[in-house]
Amino acid sequence: MQVEVEPRVASQQRRLASALSRCGVIAFDFTITARCPRTRARCGCFTTPHGPVHTPRFMPVGTAATVKGVSTPQLQETGAQMVLANTFHLHLQPGEPVVAEAGGLHRFMGWDGPLLTDSGGFQVFSLDAINRIDDDGVVFRSPRDGSRIDLTPERSMAIQRALGADVAMAFDQCPPYPASEAAVAEACRRTHRWLERCVACHGGGDQALFGIVQGGCFPHLREASARVVAAMDLPGIAVGGVSVGEPVEEMHRVVRQVGPLLPQERPHYLMGVGSLREMAIAVANGFDLFDCVLPTRLGRHGTALVGGERWNLRNARFRHDHGPLDPSCGCLACRHHSRSYLHHLFRSDELLGRTLLSLHNLTTLLRFTTAMARAIGEGCFSEDFAPWEPDSQAAHTW
Ligand SMILES: [Zn+2]
Repeated sequence: MQVEVEPRVASQQRRLASALSRCGVIAFDFTITARCPRTRARCGCFTTPHGPVHTPRFMPVGTAATVKGVSTPQLQETGAQMVLANTFHLHLQPGEPVVAEAGGLHRFMGWDGPLLTDSGGFQVFSLDAINRIDDDGVVFRSPRDGSRIDLTPERSMAIQRALGADVAMAFDQCPPYPASEAAVAEACRRTHRWLERCVACHGGGDQALFGIVQGGCFPHLREASARVVAAMDLPGIAVGGVSVGEPVEEMHRVVRQVGPLLPQERPHYLMGVGSLREMAIAVANGFDLFDCVLPTRLGRHGTALVGGERWNLRNARFRHDHGPLDPSCGCLACRHHSRSYLHHLFRSDELLGRTLLSLHNLTTLLRFTTAMARAIGEGCFSEDFAPWEPDSQAAHTW
């Protein structure tokens, strides 16, 4: 069963991991500590140079080396273990040389826990200003100053190495939704070629490289991609190209199909997914790690995740409601402030409201993944969380 570690113990673990890393003893081990007997859900511990990540676990997104509106001590309080940062944004501002000069991303942003950087591909392929995509890479204009930028698998690896996160993601082509079978097949082929180049130039050491499975909503392409990426035997494997606008049933189908195809002894990361039902279904199919910008984005706009619902705190019904936001939550917002006060902060456009709701929403998703881990350890995951039903025990007991 997974045990939550005290911040003091976690800090000692990080120092030990860091010392081992300096001595050249670097291992990105993934140890499975508990399994659900009726689903593919498992608890695990992923070891990084900056400490362990206990799974299943949600990972907050710190796009520009900051989880928007949240300070590092506040982020630690949410239960976050691994945090994401975006290669594309950090390359544009401040540029990886500045981050490297600071001693790497951990020191630059003041976070001494595990970090993961994406490859930059997802953001680049979302741009309108792409000039060229071919087998070599992508050429696009910087959205900041219009200058020409060439991004190749080698360049993405070099930028991520300079940033220095514990986990780097392979440079991949994520096709949009909808896309033709031919377009998705082409993106898959390119993603696999690029993965080989990422592996060839990455070099390992104190940074793990995760490969990414693509294939859109085409089962035979997903299966082929899972086999190619699994064969690279990397320390972790991700599934991308979900949560890109496809119907939610399609996402569920991909999760159910691809989960069992992934190598069991590696951590499985479902990219861009962070809603309760989707995480529960994914955990039941063997996924371990999740990320999503939604908790902080919703928080900044006055929406709180409470008991599986979304509440707009600007709503007049909260004006005279002096109870805590969510009595079952121990976050800073719920411990110290009322719904009425949060309503007031948003109505008067105070910055603190955005911080408090971001903290609450992050804490909620982290509590949810921790509760799934506890249920797996106690042998009740299949009854409480899978299959997910809106009125199931899971909605009320975590
Ligand atoms: Zn809370």
